[in-house]
This record gives sequence, structure tokens and C-alpha cells, in this order.
Amino acid sequence: MKKGLIIVISAPSGTGKGTVIEQLRQRRSFSLSVSHTTRAPRQGEVDGVNYHYVSRAQFQALVDGGKMVETTVYSGNCYGTSFAAVEDVIARGEDVLLEIEVEGGRNIRKKFPEAVEIYLFPPSLSELERRLRGRGTESDAAVRTRLDRALEELDELRAEEGVYDYFVVNRQVDQAAAEIDAILRAEKLRRERQGDLPTRLLDGGAL
Ligand code: ADP
Ligand code: 5GP
Repeated sequence: MKKGLIIVISAPSGTGKGTVIEQLRQRRSFSLSVSHTTRAPRQGEVDGVNYHYVSRAQFQALVDGGKMVETTVYSGNCYGTSFAAVEDVIARGEDVLLEIEVEGGRNIRKKFPEAVEIYLFPPSLSELERRLRGRGTESDAAVRTRLDRALEELDELRAEEGVYDYFVVNRQVDQAAAEIDAILRAEKLRRERQGDLPTRLLDGGAL
């Protein structure tokens, strides 16, 4: 069976990743990787669905046990992807989507060079702030920390080469989802993901 795609989507917090990914679900099927985090659940978030919410000690035990592909500290909390969240899914032939920040994107690239990595941009910094405040989930101080982190991330991206394959701007949710869908359709057609089609045909098989 063909393995599924490992898809990474990163963006400054508040850009609309979650919203665009939800819209992408209308267009294609994939599993969302459920990360572990030490941050508290936001209102409406569900343990095991949005994140696995764990204590610092539990998080450290997972790291020490070699269970994590990558981890990061973001706004004072630990976040990380477990091997199980990625490998079990792609082995079933399903695509898995990771919604993670840039350090995670970089580490996924090292462990899974074949990953498809997409960076989603807000149309402007003022619109980013408007969206972040409009979401109403963070205190004023947390909004500021997230905006500072956004600037740092964008600065790092300027210097970084070769981690993100695609840049998409989230102006309209629908359009951004359509663009990501187009990227993933094209990725599925990559020669290296399709095996030796000429030989299969020449051997009398059907494609
Ligand atoms: P992220 O997952 O990147 O932190 P969210 O998906 O929570 O961001 O979106 C942050 C806020 O911006 C939400 O209130 C959401 O409704 C809004 N939003 C997302 N995409 C757009 C868009 N294209 N135009 C306007 N508002 C948007
Ligand atoms: P939030 O607290 O808004 O849910 O997430 C904060 C940031 O952490 C976002 O940029 C999100 O993409 C990132 N993030 C969530 N899970 C992971 C993870 O498992 N690994 C990494 N590296 N980043 C993550």
C-alpha cells in the first residue's frame, strides 16, 4: 500500500490555519495529527481531539521515552508531535496533516524529508493582529506574546532555505483551502510517489 502524505502547515498564530484546515476538509480527506501540549485547553477544546493535554512531567516522560518526533516551546508551553500521531496514519495510506510552528517544521523535514511543507501567511501584520484579537481566546498579554513570536518566525523564515516548499496567503479562507488542495493534488502526482509506471505498463499491467 502507498504511504499517505505527511503535510505540515505552519503560520503565525491567528493567521487562520485552523479555519483553513477545517475548510480543506470539505475538499479532501486527511487525518489531523493530534499533538501533545502542556497548555490549558481553550473553551470548547476537547482532550484527544484538539490536543492531548498533559502535565510537564508527562510531557518530559514522553520525550525521555523516545516517543516524540519533534517538540518545541511556544509562549511558555511545550508542544510536540508523537511518532504514533504520524507513522500509524501514513502506514494506513491516509494523509496526515500537522499544524505546527517553524521549529517543528524544520525538525519534521529532518526526520521525514518527503514531507510536504506549506507556510500560510496573513495578508498583513495589521490583519494578523485583528484576527488574533477578534478570536477573543487570548488575554492582551498573550496576544502580544503571539504577535512577537510571529515577527520572530517571519524573520527566521527570511533566512531559512529549503524547509517550506510552498507559500500560501490566507486572504479568503475558501481560496487558501483551494490552493492547498491544488498543491496536494499535484504532490500526489509526483513521479517518485507513483512508482515505476512505464515498467508496469510494459509488463502488461494496468495503471
Ligand atoms: P490559527 O489557527 O492560525 O491560530 P484561527 O483559524 O483560529 O487561526 O483564526 C483566527 C481568527 O481569524 C478566527 O477568528 C478566524 O475566524 C479568523 N479568520 C481566519 N481566516 C480568515 C480570513 N481569511 N479572513 C478573515 N478572518 C479569518
Ligand atoms: P496554540 O496554542 O495556538 O494551539 O498553538 C500555538 C502554536 O504551537 C501554533 O503555531 C501551533 O501550530 C504550534 N503547535 C501545535 N502543536 C505543535 C506541535 O506538536 N509541535 C510544534 N512544533 N508546534 C506545535
